[in-house]
Amino acid sequence: MTLNKKEYIRKGKCIWCLKSKPEVEFYTKPHTIPKKLNSHNIGFDICDSCNSFFGSDNKLDKVTYSVDKVLKEFFNVHKFLLNNKKDSNSWKKFKSQFFNYYHTSKTLKLKIDYRRNATYINQLTRKFKRGIYNIFLQEYHRNTENGLDNKFDKIREFVRYDIGELPLYYLKNSNGVKMTEDLDLSHGLPFNGYLIEILDKYGFYHLSMIGLNFYLEATEKAKLNLDYLIKDSNHLIGTGFVFKELIELKKLNEIDFTLRNWD
Ligand SMILES: [Zn+2]
Repeated sequence: MTLNKKEYIRKGKCIWCLKSKPEVEFYTKPHTIPKKLNSHNIGFDICDSCNSFFGSDNKLDKVTYSVDKVLKEFFNVHKFLLNNKKDSNSWKKFKSQFFNYYHTSKTLKLKIDYRRNATYINQLTRKFKRGIYNIFLQEYHRNTENGLDNKFDKIREFVRYDIGELPLYYLKNSNGVKMTEDLDLSHGLPFNGYLIEILDKYGFYHLSMIGLNFYLEATEKAKLNLDYLIKDSNHLIGTGFVFKELIELKKLNEIDFTLRNWD
């Protein structure tokens, strides 16, 4: 018998596997964004087995790292790049499974073994995309409590069961990445009235994280509203000073990791 053990439950059903008690339990604190990224947001309706699934490596996969780990690694190296306390010795302290850091060009590059291995980079990119959609739905549910809506079934299949495919659109920076004011994700993803309205109307969610900008196909409506995506991104691109173009991310190394001075 469990006495007074806190349960992280609100709607009573897991937003990932759609199972309820007693089939699954809800005792593990679900961080909606990996806590290594300095986020302390705690969600609910994420069962213990789904929670552990996202954080567990899988030796049978080509990319053995968990969805959480791929995402953490990626954003942490990005944060390293943006950290202005770097000097010519920083690379010695820099440790990454996937990236090398070149201080003279202020660039992070995916290690050549990965860049050359098409299968590996495809799987790595897929895990990264699943990680992005993972935090989207968890944060959406934390804010709105509507994450169980069946309009998100595609996300559930893709993220939890690795089935199907969802596109991730990336807004390419014109001139490398910009020093950003806010390296923390402590506030989580925004879900204000405007963003919810866009999501309901067009199916897209614009996710901006540590200076990187993505569009997610949050619901199937998005497929019919590519013109909205083009219009919105063109508006942000404008004269091309900050952003260059919108691409559908197919390979993780399409994300530019060169730091430039923007003043
Ligand atoms: Zn679950």
